Amino acid sequence: MKFTALKLIGFKSFVDPAELRIEPGLTGIIGPNGCGKSNLLEALRWVMGATSAKSLRGSGMEDVIFSGTDARPSRDRAEVVLTVDNSDRTAPARFNDHASLEVIRRITRGAGSLYKVNGEEVRAKDVQLLFADASTGANSPALVRQGQISELIAAKPENRRRVLEEAAGVAGLRARRHESELR
Ligand code: ATP
Ligand code: MG
Repeated sequence: MKFTALKLIGFKSFVDPAELRIEPGLTGIIGPNGCGKSNLLEALRWVMGATSAKSLRGSGMEDVIFSGTDARPSRDRAEVVLTVDNSDRTAPARFNDHASLEVIRRITRGAGSLYKVNGEEVRAKDVQLLFADASTGANSPALVRQGQISELIAAKPENRRRVLEEAAGVAGLRARRHESELR
């Protein structure tokens, strides 16, 4: 499973639609302080189903919506679209008819989040499970926030264990077991 494009509309500082094509190999993002580099990584985590406002440097989930500047009014909606190459068919069975997946998360003020995969509305859980085993996912250890290392050092043992479980690749299994117990 490879990410091929990330599109942001009204997400944090990206008030105008911005699309990033993710080519094979290494992608570097450079720019002055405050230009939105960390916001891009947060968009990636958010579209994969992040549920913690704190991990997105906000106090509420709606804080990801463009909040306005002196020159531009705020928006009522934020949307992130992640395009995933699924030609190796590693997505869960229900999505495996498609060689390319378009995952959308949209938040509207007062109305919460909505998720879609290839146009079909799905639950947050479906999107989280889609990425849970791919060493990606909203909580993936591959996504290291600024300041996260010092947080990890100061973390409670059970929180540190969760990070190690993600690193060992068993977090997806745990999420699926929880899901099957609910049924
Ligand atoms: P650094 O190099 O310092 O790490 P960066 O490129 O990672 O900077 P970000 O932290 O991604 O920069 O971007 C911060 C900018 O995003 C700030 O100017 C902040 O005001 C803006 N921003 C964050 N949330 C919103 C929002 N909801 N609406 C509008 N602007 C926002
Ligand atoms: Mg940053």
